[in-house]
Amino acid sequence: MGESRLRLVWIYPDLLSTYGDQGNALIVERRALMRGIEVERVDVRSDQPVPTSGDIYLIGGGEDRPQRLAAERLRRDPGLATAVGAGAALLAVCAGYQIIGTEFIDDLDQPEAGLGLLDVRSGRGAPGKRCVGEVLAEVDPALGLPVLSGFENHQGVTYVGPGAKPLARVTHGNGNGTGDGTEGAYAGRVIGTYMHGPVMSRNPALADLLLTWATGVPLTPLGDHWHEQLRSERLRTVRAAAAN
Ligand code: GLN
Repeated sequence: MGESRLRLVWIYPDLLSTYGDQGNALIVERRALMRGIEVERVDVRSDQPVPTSGDIYLIGGGEDRPQRLAAERLRRDPGLATAVGAGAALLAVCAGYQIIGTEFIDDLDQPEAGLGLLDVRSGRGAPGKRCVGEVLAEVDPALGLPVLSGFENHQGVTYVGPGAKPLARVTHGNGNGTGDGTEGAYAGRVIGTYMHGPVMSRNPALADLLLTWATGVPLTPLGDHWHEQLRSERLRTVRAAAAN
């Protein structure tokens, strides 16, 4: 992090921001400010270069065509790779998750190179079989996060390679959609997930994890518990639905 301000970069709000994923930027910003950390937020549209000096980068989900356009532009722009190489934190959701991997299948059914920032590769699920609905997943204990809850809607299925670890194991929903029970992936300070919600509104601990990585110091607890209430409500609802 720079001298006094945290630089938060939201990549391509014009192409990648389904299901309110832009909320992740608001939440990181807000949770930093509540700790007295000043934030400079940069929204990078797809015709602008990605700055290399960010501390935290966020990418959202998107439909298949905008996903291809975003990947084309990001492949030509070394900004994100430079920042991640220098230790910046990155959280990418759904289409963004597929783009930061090594490959995905685009809207023209062609394999499309990803950015190779995370060792995951995405294919497509069986025609007409989208992964849609609520997800609950237990996070890799190494990350020290509570159970994640979110919403998924994707056709892609993602395989985690040896250079990354699954972010979590689903207890409800599909996650990576490969049938192996994994959800998302991470390596170093790069996290990919299929969870919308936006994921940080349902799981503010994820925002705090990125803030801890970026600031290098433990954060003061905020004492907010509303999201835990939401999580137990979701748990009750999906369990009741499964029992019927
Ligand atoms: N287009 C991608 C898929 O269907 C991602 C969708 C999303 O971001 N919600 O797999």
